[in-house]
Amino acid sequence: MNKKIAVIKGDGIGPEIVTEALKVLDKTGEKFGHSFEYTYVLMGGCAIDETGVPLPQETIDICLASDSVLLGAVGGKKWDNLPGNLRPEAGLLGIRGALKLFANIRPAKLLKPLASACPLKPEITNNGLDLVIVRELIGGAYFGEHKTVTNPDGSKTASDNMVYSDYEIERICRVAFEMARKRRSKVHSVDKANVLDSSRLWREISHKVASEYPDVEFDDILVDNCAMQLVRNPAQFDVLVTENLFGDILSDEASMITGSLGMIPSASLGETSLGLYEPIHGSAPDIAGQNKANPIATILSAAMMLRYSFDMSAEADAIENSVTKVLESGFRTSDIMSDSEGLKCVSCTEMGDLISSEI
Ligand code: NAD
Repeated sequence: MNKKIAVIKGDGIGPEIVTEALKVLDKTGEKFGHSFEYTYVLMGGCAIDETGVPLPQETIDICLASDSVLLGAVGGKKWDNLPGNLRPEAGLLGIRGALKLFANIRPAKLLKPLASACPLKPEITNNGLDLVIVRELIGGAYFGEHKTVTNPDGSKTASDNMVYSDYEIERICRVAFEMARKRRSKVHSVDKANVLDSSRLWREISHKVASEYPDVEFDDILVDNCAMQLVRNPAQFDVLVTENLFGDILSDEASMITGSLGMIPSASLGETSLGLYEPIHGSAPDIAGQNKANPIATILSAAMMLRYSFDMSAEADAIENSVTKVLESGFRTSDIMSDSEGLKCVSCTEMGDLISSEI
């Protein structure tokens, strides 16, 4: 198969980690008889420097004409003082909207070789930690009206409108139920229905969708309780589905309990097979250009691309198994290094080489 991939390297460590992911993709293609054709496009700080805007129209057009998109990370101090709509992060929101990517999928799984990096007690994680957060990505408070007004007395008032329509809730819930069917058949819908109207509608619609999936166990959970249960007993969760703001916070919490930001991939999906795949971490300016970044989250994002956009499960399994094997052999980048015996600290490039040679 031949697939066209738009590649956004971005800022900071973005170019380093994406280079390693492409190395692994090429090796996978070679082994399984596929060719991946890359078109490099600009987004974020590097796009601002070159074109004046964080998301040039050309980037959107090329992404739309591709089979999928791989992204490193964007942002950095240099662009922090620009107005909100011209900051690198505006590119992220813009590309999700332009590609109509309404579902963000973030797995949080504790890999055995990294169990010691988990901040939870072993008696909690011994029950397992393998869940997926399905987050609505283009609605809610991040996309509602944002307003700051100066009052007559000179004080200021700001508001962000959290808006959801029934069809937006229905389509994201369907993604969650379909995913649960391929996993352990359990969905928790996370809301704040005791306070928010948007959550009461969320609850009504999620129950309606649940009734069409009688084979999937279903429960509601309030977001504050969910945040607590994630550290008290994460094994109870399989698939969590929630709105944009709650999902943003809960997915960071879930990722951290698995050990390191540098390990967690994500996928953003819409109605078609075109998806955007990226690590959950940022551009890590503090280590950029030092060949120290952990490329595993980006490599696992590439594996998710093969699984969800290209229907290449065996190829995705090959990448995920190679990552586990390399970790089992004791190789670590500095962010996941510990003083346990038998571990060897390797660079970003070496980690990419090791995973690639395991494929
Ligand atoms: P960050 O995730 O970039 O870094 C947090 C810490 O984790 C840093 O100490 C960093 O060195 C470390 N880290 C992150 N990824 C790593 C990796 N792959 N390997 C090793 N260590 C890693 O978060 P931040 O410092 O809050 O943000 C830096 C910039 O990234 C900001 O401009 C922010 O807006 C941007 N950002 C972008 C995205 C994105 O592109 N999706 C997401 C979050 C933050």
